[in-house]
Amino acid sequence: MVVGGCFCGKIRVEYNGEPIMSALCHCYDCRKLTGTLFTYSFVVHKADLKISGSPKEVAKRADSGNHIKNYFCSDCGTPIYGHKIKPSGDPEDITILRAGIFDDIEYLDRQKPKAEIYKLGRVKWMCPLAGVDQFIGMPPLP
Ligand SMILES: [Zn+2]
Ligand SMILES: [Zn+2]
Repeated sequence: MVVGGCFCGKIRVEYNGEPIMSALCHCYDCRKLTGTLFTYSFVVHKADLKISGSPKEVAKRADSGNHIKNYFCSDCGTPIYGHKIKPSGDPEDITILRAGIFDDIEYLDRQKPKAEIYKLGRVKWMCPLAGVDQFIGMPPLP
């Protein structure tokens, strides 16, 4: 099990699983959502995740047309996770977990990204990661 949380510590996360996918994302929404130039996220099964505290929800329609909800700490603003919403209004079983919330840098050392997505949004002075698959959009999940 690995643990993490937000900047102020009011939201805590326990994760017990192996990410289905991990990716750096260079899309516009990720920049605005996090205030940084790209994100690093794990695609995980919602069932493997335990969240304590009450993250604030923000809903948006993505460029892809998908309805998404993102969750962050309402006190310190750290983005924690997000997911798509099914047409029924229920969350999908897959959650996008922000990698930077994990406390243990050695865990992150072992989790090299499997992909870079929305690569056309990458700033020109940044190089693609060596040996990492590059995608113009969202790759299909394995
Ligand atoms: Zn916080
Ligand atoms: Zn993105």
